[in-house]
Amino acid sequence: MTLDKENVKRVFGEAYDIGLAAASSGAVADYIPELAKADPKAFGMYMLDKNGESLSFGDVGVRFSAQSVSKVIVLAAALKFKGFDETFSHVMMEPSGDSFNSILKLDTRSNLPFNPMINAGAIQTVSLLTDEVSFADLMDFARKLCRDDGITVDERVFRSEFMTGDRNRAIGYLLKSKGVLQSDPKRTVDLYFRMCSLSVTAKSLAALGLILANGGVDPISGERLVSEDHARTIKSIMFTCGMYDYSGKYGVRVGVPSKSGVGGGLTCAAKGPMGIGFYGPALDKFGNSKAAVKAMEHISRELKLHVFD
Ligand code: GLN
Repeated sequence: MTLDKENVKRVFGEAYDIGLAAASSGAVADYIPELAKADPKAFGMYMLDKNGESLSFGDVGVRFSAQSVSKVIVLAAALKFKGFDETFSHVMMEPSGDSFNSILKLDTRSNLPFNPMINAGAIQTVSLLTDEVSFADLMDFARKLCRDDGITVDERVFRSEFMTGDRNRAIGYLLKSKGVLQSDPKRTVDLYFRMCSLSVTAKSLAALGLILANGGVDPISGERLVSEDHARTIKSIMFTCGMYDYSGKYGVRVGVPSKSGVGGGLTCAAKGPMGIGFYGPALDKFGNSKAAVKAMEHISRELKLHVFD
């Protein structure tokens, strides 16, 4: 797919203005106290394509916690270290239609969490790795997938979530009580918190989107990080489940495999291939970045990036 450079630049410029204007109607997450300190007006947007060409707007260098965007990295790691069959014998791949931290269907409908993009499913997926993969290896994998050696654990966010994350602990213990969690609930939920606290930028999330869009190969270094099959699986699950209980509408309106986090991040694996990363901590009621979603609607519509265009 070839895109006219000038047109791409114009569309991204318009999208930035649309995003900035939308941010004012969102609100930063405050259930993790440290996240409430973010500037609700902040907005950064970065595009990286397979030739290494980029476009950069606003707060692209600001570090913030990946939060649920890390669920993509956790899924990629589980597929890499445990394989497809093993991973999906412990977590399903169905959209839940419920909020990201819901416990409802897990208790009433199914013993296995619906998918790896919601908290229950991510905690379950982490439990496959807790005793098998060192944190240093997970961090190394995250840095490569994001082309960002500056990723570290934001200790303040980690502590803040550690102090307030009882709902996620409840999910961990519920999974244990059902006999499905694959490791100790305390260590597993702590590792989940640590992954959520990885500090990324809009630029790192653009690289993550690009590598997935490019079938798992980093087009700039040439290194394969994710198998082609796994990249297809991850993108499919991002498409159907990546935006929590807004995934259906986002699929229709934007139609680009994407994953959001309550820190304000959004990674998008778009045609081109190109990766688009966002930082916009003012969220909508689903927990998605208000600015990023509005900007992506415009970009996808104007550049015909919907997977069914
Ligand atoms: N760490 C957050 C939580 O578990 C991640 C949720 C999110 O980004 N939606 O609540």
